[in-house]
Amino acid sequence: MRYISTRGGMEPASFSEVLIEGLAPDGGLVVPATMPTIAREQLESWRRLDYPSLAAEVLGMFATDIPRPDLQAMTARAYSTDKFANEAIVPVTPIDDRVSLLGLSEGPTLAFKDMAMQFLGEAVEYVLQRKGGTLNIVGATSGDTGSAAEYAFRDKDSVAVFMLSPQGRMSDFQRAQMYSLTEPTIHNIAMEGVFDDAQNHLKALAGDLDFKRRYRIGAVNSINLGRVTAQTVYYVWAYLRLTDELSREQRESFEFSVTVPSGNFGNILAGHFAKSMGVPVRRLVLASNENNVLDEFFRTGVYRPRTSENTYLTSSPSMDISKASNLERFIFDLVGRDGLRLREAWAILDASGELDFSDHKDALRETYGFVSGSSTHDDRVATIRETFEDHGVLIDPHTADGVKVAREHLEDGVPMLVLETAKPAKFREIVVEATGEEPEIPEHLRYLLSAEQRVVEMTNDERALRNYIAEHALL
Ligand SMILES: *Cc1c(COP(=O)(O)O)cnc(C)c1O
Repeated sequence: MRYISTRGGMEPASFSEVLIEGLAPDGGLVVPATMPTIAREQLESWRRLDYPSLAAEVLGMFATDIPRPDLQAMTARAYSTDKFANEAIVPVTPIDDRVSLLGLSEGPTLAFKDMAMQFLGEAVEYVLQRKGGTLNIVGATSGDTGSAAEYAFRDKDSVAVFMLSPQGRMSDFQRAQMYSLTEPTIHNIAMEGVFDDAQNHLKALAGDLDFKRRYRIGAVNSINLGRVTAQTVYYVWAYLRLTDELSREQRESFEFSVTVPSGNFGNILAGHFAKSMGVPVRRLVLASNENNVLDEFFRTGVYRPRTSENTYLTSSPSMDISKASNLERFIFDLVGRDGLRLREAWAILDASGELDFSDHKDALRETYGFVSGSSTHDDRVATIRETFEDHGVLIDPHTADGVKVAREHLEDGVPMLVLETAKPAKFREIVVEATGEEPEIPEHLRYLLSAEQRVVEMTNDERALRNYIAEHALL
């Protein structure tokens, strides 16, 4: 399997070569040259596999340059019960007879980012060991990416992490998780501004090839290819678990829909990959909060990213994103995987601030299966309350955005799965507001809230950031 750029300007490369980047040298995003496909019989042959073994099979379709036994060893370490609280790694929990949760938050930082990042930690270490050298990961987080990256790399000697977070925009628990780490290779940088400001600095650094080479900079943001591919695994897992009890004939015609609480379009992009590969997903339901740029796109066909001043601070903060980096990979498919057309579209976007695909509006739904919706703080509170009081299931505000929008897109005979993107313990305030109950913090994490915190504060200034990295990079 070779990888190319959405903008057509990159020599095809292998999985190991593009793993750390995601961003192609021509400014596009790396995508598979052709999407691998999974035949029905092959899907069936995976039914008895546990999660790590299934992950090795699915990732093996993307990482064809890594020998299968090595991949199997990596997924076994990444998805072990040492790190995941649930025996199944990814449990399926019914809320009622139409809607179930796919439990993606059993990992060390209680959010779905662990699903991808745990694999990436193993894969990056594997590639570095073969190639020699070190890596300095520079990332930006709106909350959950940062801790997932730091927990995935804290024990990797050849990797340092520099994580930018927007000052005062994360929950107490999220802050405690990140800032309590004491490894000298972990650098937390609290920056003025919002997530998109931090992301803009990263883009500037990524464009400075000299700086990047000199300080061995890599990225693990949500455009990272290793993350997207690792996320396709649980869509395959979901299909298998939903059909375990069905007869052979029932399986032939089975379809399910998935609702994905979305921000940077990474998680749902993996769903689009899985659907393209042949997993029988009927609808990919995109759920957004008040920052509803993507909901607007899938309803109207017009993509109009917003500036950071126009990005609201909400009670589902990991979705407070108004410029969805990964959308380019989907648009690449939408324009017939034509790099030239994609470049033209992005030139229009850069010049006018808007992309008009309203003449593709029907294809978004009928060909690609995308529908969408959004919610408000009051919706989240009502959904958390109702899901708890009526069904005894406690959910976090992002998953609540998902459950609310999922209920607007139910179809007879089509099971609906909502991706549980975080545990309620990470967002206690809104959970208490909705239910009057304190969300339970797992035993092994209780010390966190009172642990000493270590963080560097920085103004919204790229030079300061460069200086800090130059001084602390692992070379
Ligand atoms: C990252 C995150 C999201 C958004 O996922 P994307 O891949 O950026 O669309 C939603 N919910 C939670 C809890 C997250 O951490």
